[in-house]
Order: sequence, then C-alpha cells, then structure tokens
Amino acid sequence: MEYGNKSEHTRTKCIKCGDCCRKNSPALHQADLALITGKRLERKNLLLFRRGEPAMDNVMGSPVLLAGEMIKIKSATAGHVGCVFLDQQSNHCNIYGYRPMECSILECWNPEPLINCYQKNRLTRADIFPRGSAMDELISIHEEKCPVTELYSMLQQETNAPGTAREDINRLLAFDDSFRQNFQEKTGAHEEDILFYFGRPLKDLIRPLMDFMKLNPDGNA
Ligand code: SF4
Repeated sequence: MEYGNKSEHTRTKCIKCGDCCRKNSPALHQADLALITGKRLERKNLLLFRRGEPAMDNVMGSPVLLAGEMIKIKSATAGHVGCVFLDQQSNHCNIYGYRPMECSILECWNPEPLINCYQKNRLTRADIFPRGSAMDELISIHEEKCPVTELYSMLQQETNAPGTAREDINRLLAFDDSFRQNFQEKTGAHEEDILFYFGRPLKDLIRPLMDFMKLNPDGNA
C-alpha cells in the first residue's frame, strides 16, 4: 500500500495499527518548524535530502530525484523504512502529542489531505538558518560547489562513456570531503550536525544515485 492508494482500506478512523509509520517516515513542512526551534525534534532524528537526491515519494510509493530539498524523520534502522519514533512492539508513536504535520493529517483510508500538501511548503535549511548567517553562507557555498545534480550528471556521463568523467567525479568528491573536514576542524561540530548542515557525503550518494539510474535510465536530476 502506498499512501496514495486508498483502495485497500475501508475503515473510517485510525486504529493505530502502525502500518503507515512502518512504510516510511514523514517529511517536514514549514508548519513543523516550531518542533525544531522548540527542540521537540533533535537533529539526530532528522535526515536531510538535498536537491537531486533519490528519495522515496510517500504518495507515489516509488523513488524520485528530489526537485528541492527535504528534511525527514529518520528511519528506525539503516535500510529500514519505518519511522524511528514508532514503538515496534506497541505500535504507538513516541512523539504522538507533537507529531509532524504529515502524520497528523494522514488517513490511510483517505489519502487526499496528504496528497494535497505533500509537495507543498517543505521545510528546508533556509527556514532554520537565518538568511545571511554564517551557516546560511556555508550551506550556499557547499551547494554551489558540491551539487548532487552535478554528481548525477557526471555519473550518467561516466556510465555512457567510461573514463570521460572519472577525474571530475574524484575532484568533486575530494572537495566535498575536504569541505566537511575543514568545517569539523574549525567548529568541532558532531558528525550528526554536519550531516544535517550539508547532507550525506557525496561519496555515500554514488550507490543510491547509480541504483536510481539503473531503475530510471531516462531520469534526469
Ligand atoms: S512521527 Fe509518529 S505518527 Fe509520524 S510516522 Fe513516526 S511514529 Fe508514525
């Protein structure tokens, strides 16, 4: 069942089966900003997907290359798509009283409310770090120098003509690595925070990008 498929459910209220929470975790929207500024949601429980990364579309039920960035609640374990806040034994949400907007409007028997807002007003780093702040500027520099979309284009080129983009890919990965390392050395930031500021290292995106490319040979970043 994808969130967009209502044919499988005839119920009219939530029975707290936990099925939705096991399928995927919610993306955050601007309406959820207070959960972060009020420290209800900590960075260690969030995952940043940058523009151009492959990510599961909860409505379509298939991976897409993101047209804009997305901040999500993390999955329970690596390779698991369920939400980290779902108690696997009781099916209870551990943050039910302040769950994100997508969770509060989701009705598995009626996906329309989620479909209507799913792509709209996604929370981004620009909502969290004030414009002109040091972090905002560093994020802009990193996005300009290390765009995921460029890595994807290079991987496509290398796949189509082996050897033609290898050096450029290595240069891009090296810049991304040194950027993160310099930031860590200068600020002493924890790895979890660095992942939230700059997303996953480009070298860790090669596999998911290649997997996406194989499944979608015509897909564009
Ligand atoms: S935050 Fe709570 S309601 Fe939302 S997906 Fe996670 S466990 Fe389910």
